[in-house]
Amino acid sequence: SATLVWLRDDLRLDDNPALTEAAARGTPLTVVYVLDEESPGVRPLGGAVKWWLHHSLAALAADLEAAGSRLVLRRGPAAQIIQDLAAETSADTLLWNRRYGAPERAVDAGLKTWATAEGIGATSFQANLMFEPWTVRTGSGGPYKVFTPFWRACVAGPEPRLPLAPPGRLPAPARTGDGQLPASEPLDDWGLLPRQPDWSAGLAATWTPGEAGAHSRLADFVDGPAAEYGTGRDIPGVEGTSRLSPHLRFGEISPFRIWHTLREHFVPGAPADVGIFRSELGWREFCWQLLYENPDLATRNYRPEFDRFEWQPPSGAELAAWQQGGTGYPLVDAGMRQLWQTGWMHNRVRMAAASFLVKNLLADWRLGEAWFWDTLVDADSASNPANWQWVAGSGADASPYFRIFNPVTQSKKFDAAGRYLREYLPELAALDDKAVHEPWKADCAAPGYPAPIVDLAETRARALATYQRLKDG
Ligand code: FAD
Repeated sequence: SATLVWLRDDLRLDDNPALTEAAARGTPLTVVYVLDEESPGVRPLGGAVKWWLHHSLAALAADLEAAGSRLVLRRGPAAQIIQDLAAETSADTLLWNRRYGAPERAVDAGLKTWATAEGIGATSFQANLMFEPWTVRTGSGGPYKVFTPFWRACVAGPEPRLPLAPPGRLPAPARTGDGQLPASEPLDDWGLLPRQPDWSAGLAATWTPGEAGAHSRLADFVDGPAAEYGTGRDIPGVEGTSRLSPHLRFGEISPFRIWHTLREHFVPGAPADVGIFRSELGWREFCWQLLYENPDLATRNYRPEFDRFEWQPPSGAELAAWQQGGTGYPLVDAGMRQLWQTGWMHNRVRMAAASFLVKNLLADWRLGEAWFWDTLVDADSASNPANWQWVAGSGADASPYFRIFNPVTQSKKFDAAGRYLREYLPELAALDDKAVHEPWKADCAAPGYPAPIVDLAETRARALATYQRLKDG
């Protein structure tokens, strides 16, 4: 007999229930990752995430080899690939950790049915969410639509389980009928890395994809900003947050591990800051629950009345100015350039940049969602659309329509000395701490920096009027 473990968004050895079970079984083991761009409805990966995936798989392959195993890479429709590989390796056991998007669940359900018919034992595990969507229900049995009661219900229940230690040695790789190791495609052939032009230098300078990188981020966070997360998380010019999001995106670290590491570190009692951080992990869980209940979250307004909203298609120049950080509003521009250079943007700046697109430019939130999908290293199919809909006001538990982030007020408040602005906008280096927030008012020039593309007060009034018309029906 033999075991087949199919890894997906769980590219880790630590706290990986499917791998732990495979180790306990002890039969020859195949570990496979499938690049699936063909199963119906599976959203094609964005460019930044592809870059991450390449490096994460390289790290995982090395980690598996060090544990006496090996990673098989295959590309194609996942169900077919898994069935073929199970046959090649005479697997009688198929293990994976659960996913929560509808197209992915359809693939998994189909495989379970197939496995049962073939007499193959297929078992799935909870690994990537601490509170699986169907386990958190309101009194009347439905899903929560508002975050605060959702999270209250989560934390009122039993504590998330303890993480599992990495399995140490893994069983020897399974062989095919003729005694060979199953074929694996060369990672380099998958074309996940950008070429011509290669825009990935800033990403490489910022991140270490893979499980080791994830754990070192967590250690840095726990020893550093975690204790002051409540205030630090709002300051884009300092590293006040964990930056674990891309690692969580690919499951290089488990939320259970993060949860319990914080608990162990802050003995006897955690400061309130840790509770705030935990609730951010809760937002991630909430977003997945929203996607679970609303599979078309990235394409359809959660609130159907928004189908009548009068979005204004931006001109090509306006959209390009937003994407490239050339709106003339420093906080928006610094954020969009941070995104382009590093594949990540600070959460407060994400809110400001997104608000500028959907409220000041009145552009459909889906345009912004798509750009973030392609450029964020942490882009995931739950958090990205859920947060865009939150900003647009079309989402569950959304930001109220009259809340329009003013990028000037925001940067004066959260980046008073202009540290973040100057880091990403070298054109503003010579401006003083006051003018850096409003370069158009500066006495000295900011060569190369654009004038504002729209007037904030005018576009704010236009947005309020448009939202009011929607409200009035
Ligand atoms: P920390 O502050 O350290 O938080 C810890 C973890 O909690 C994060 O890694 C993340 O997993 C989770 N988290 C925190 N805030 C949120 C949130 N608002 N929603 C969901 N999870 C959250 N986050 C993504 O992971 N992927 C996305 O594609 C994504 N798109 C976004 C789009 C917009 C328009 C906005 C406003 C926010 C988006 N976010 C997204 C949420 C948030 O900005 C990032 O999770 C956060 O900035 C990641 O940095 P961090 O790991 O340092 O976060």
